[in-house]
Amino acid sequence: MTENNFDTLRIHAGYDPKEHQFASSVPIYQTAAFGLDNTAVADQIVQGKLPNRFDYSRDGNPTVHVFEQRIAALEGGADAVAVGSGMSAISYTIFNVAENGGRIIAPNNIYGSALDEFRTFFPKFGINFDFVDDINDFATVERLIKDDTKAIYVESVANPSTEIADLEGLAKIAHANQIPLIVDNTFPTPYLLQPFKHGADIDVYSSTKGINGHGNVISGLVVDHGKFDWNNDKFPQFNEDEFILGDEKTGKRESFVTKFGNLAFIKRIRMKYLRLLGSVLGPSDAYLILLGLETISERLTKEVASATKIAQFLTKNEHVNKVYYSGIEYDNPLVKRYFPKGVGSILSFELAGDENQIAEIINQVKVFSYLPNIGDARSLIVNPAKTTHREIPADIRQKHALNNQVLRLSIGLEDVDDLIADLGHAIEQAFSK
Ligand SMILES: *Cc1c(COP(=O)(O)O)cnc(C)c1O
Repeated sequence: MTENNFDTLRIHAGYDPKEHQFASSVPIYQTAAFGLDNTAVADQIVQGKLPNRFDYSRDGNPTVHVFEQRIAALEGGADAVAVGSGMSAISYTIFNVAENGGRIIAPNNIYGSALDEFRTFFPKFGINFDFVDDINDFATVERLIKDDTKAIYVESVANPSTEIADLEGLAKIAHANQIPLIVDNTFPTPYLLQPFKHGADIDVYSSTKGINGHGNVISGLVVDHGKFDWNNDKFPQFNEDEFILGDEKTGKRESFVTKFGNLAFIKRIRMKYLRLLGSVLGPSDAYLILLGLETISERLTKEVASATKIAQFLTKNEHVNKVYYSGIEYDNPLVKRYFPKGVGSILSFELAGDENQIAEIINQVKVFSYLPNIGDARSLIVNPAKTTHREIPADIRQKHALNNQVLRLSIGLEDVDDLIADLGHAIEQAFSK
């Protein structure tokens, strides 16, 4: 059978109604644990030998499992693990790749909490970061790779500047040095960009955002392309014998690499990080995300069209200094190569005004909601320097579209003319006083 296309997979992948009383909608398995039947079956289940049996919802749950398999299919990945937030997905991924200490290369124009974690928290665990201003400056990235560098980490589309990472060039550098390329693909979602097609090895997501699309659940994902060779002495954690991978009868122990080959990374996320650190996604939350995911293509298509119109409107507004939206950079080669369907629903602009006028715009809008989220069906407005990116040092903010005059918009599903009128009116009000 030929592989189905994206729009079919987002409705059907990972779910067979025959295995669930022919329920058309994925059932919510609201249970902490699952019966083990008898002791012989229990032995098999706990050793992971029965793939469709579950024992405890911290290790796996049928509703969550459908979500994981559906995302893996949409990404063109081999496997996925859903977790309780985007930040857990990032944290588990960084620990899993650099658990024995080491260095990671990353740009400094990433999500505020991720940057804070990388700068101030991971170093306490022996994981240090080499930051670059421009991740597409390949000469600098190459120069920063040292013996203990464990990965290159990027956001496919930066928040809020919407700068695009050149994944193919970065993947080449990473692979020439036997390290993986990790991509936070939250902004585009798998509908607009599938990083594995461009050489990425691991994708992480905040599925709180566009994947769900309705702003009602905090959740995250780690997705594995299943192509990276972890049998590599940079990564001893995948190559040591593990009790949990042992065979009770023979006493023989295995490592994640000998047992799972190229799936070592994602299996280890589940069996070490999810099982032992425990940031689990609940089945009811997984159900809501699955529901949101069913309309991802229609939502993103409309949101991209509206974001483009709003960016064009702002470009012409006399009170706007600069619009940050690579979706309207029609001669940008990275847009053409990576984003034929558009760059996404998030854009920013710098006001030709002061902080009081920024505050006035926020207080005047009626259709836009003032809150720190993106990828919602509702359109959102926020002042990143005071909220989402507050913890980023001022000098870094200044360089990356994050000064006090910047407003970030996340465009939802309302009528675009109403959004433009709302924004236009608020800007006018701010400058009429
Ligand atoms: C929101 C966000 C995160 C963090 O996700 P949570 O679900 O809030 O933990 C990480 N990366 C990006 C790009 C985000 O926008």
